[in-house]
Amino acid sequence: MDSVFFNLTLIDGSGRDPIADAVIAIRGEKVHYAGLASGWRDAGGNFIQVDLHGGYVLPGLIDAHVHLSGSGEADSQFYAPTGQMALKILSNAQKNLAAGITTVRDLGGWSELEFDVRRSIQRGDFAGPRMCLAGRFISITEAGADYYAGMYRVADGVDEVRKAVREQVKHGADVIKMGVTGAVLVESGAPGVTHFNSDEIQALVDEAKKFGKPVAMHAHGIDGIRKAVEAGVTTLEHGTYLYRDPGVIRLMAQRGVFLVPTLKVGWDIILAEKSNVPDWIMQKNKDSQGDAAKSLKMAYEAGVPIAMGSDVGTPLNYHGENALEVYWMEQAGLSKMDALVAATGNAAKALGWDSWLGTLEAGKVADLIAHERNPLEDLRSLADKESLRLVMKDGEVVANHAGSVLPKEVLAKQVLMIR
Ligand SMILES: [Zn+2]
Repeated sequence: MDSVFFNLTLIDGSGRDPIADAVIAIRGEKVHYAGLASGWRDAGGNFIQVDLHGGYVLPGLIDAHVHLSGSGEADSQFYAPTGQMALKILSNAQKNLAAGITTVRDLGGWSELEFDVRRSIQRGDFAGPRMCLAGRFISITEAGADYYAGMYRVADGVDEVRKAVREQVKHGADVIKMGVTGAVLVESGAPGVTHFNSDEIQALVDEAKKFGKPVAMHAHGIDGIRKAVEAGVTTLEHGTYLYRDPGVIRLMAQRGVFLVPTLKVGWDIILAEKSNVPDWIMQKNKDSQGDAAKSLKMAYEAGVPIAMGSDVGTPLNYHGENALEVYWMEQAGLSKMDALVAATGNAAKALGWDSWLGTLEAGKVADLIAHERNPLEDLRSLADKESLRLVMKDGEVVANHAGSVLPKEVLAKQVLMIR
């Protein structure tokens, strides 16, 4: 149903200044008009009118790094029996949508169940976010593969790496995820240590490119980061020790390699002193959090494109609280507007979906959120369910606040409650 939202301030996700007294018109699944109210002409259209009472409208947020198979378990143990895991993935996906995260990029699923969940959402069986999926996390032989059975695909050597990529593509992956260094959330993992050799990294990137798939590279240590950037990855996940080589930062800026810093998880763990988080997880986060923030600041100042990724699903990092990552990026040095763009226009670019997603402009997909409070005054309000009024995906309202009454024509078949 075509609709027009008025009496609102538009923040379109491109980085342009907000437009007060704006109108946004939706025709089918697409944005038909977004701009000044004075420029809007309803040329005989049949638009349902919705008054937003001075609210703030933004593109639906895009989280470029989530794990739908995790629910924030303190010890990072995601395991559940198959049926329960599929429902856990669906439930977590819906928590994202109801929080205004209309698109998630999952960088490590579980036994391919996330592809089934996506099919069910696409068929319209369930409400859920747009999902960009990596399938399994491709790793060398290491302890993480036992800790995250279901998430990892172990591959040693060039031939195995190529085969692992082909498997993810076969299952329907949109992006290939590789772990080029050790992990923080694996007990014996040394985040600084390089795992894959250069020939394996290059083989993965080349194989992914052959199928037109971007590569998301998990990397903390600078040697692994350097090898990944030189091999041609699309996004660098975490990038904790990036600050150690300004030359690599320059190369990322030149090549347009995105940094997805994932700061929220570290803060959630560090700020929860009396939690059930094991000591080894607490200590490793305390050791690396300052470095991660420093690396983000240097990359940002050097012009490296930044995309928002919360790593939700990891310990105490809950689905639905994703948008706090935007605030943490600001705390590390981004301007408020640039932090917001990292979660909208820039995140869409990192996914390679920016020709049709991520900003509110005529012709793009109508994924949007409306907030009561101005997020540019306090970015934490982006994660405040009291401020979030409604969530639209594909031109239909898919999540609504208890307090807001909307014409039923603009509502999707299934509407989640924002709470
Ligand atoms: Zn992750």
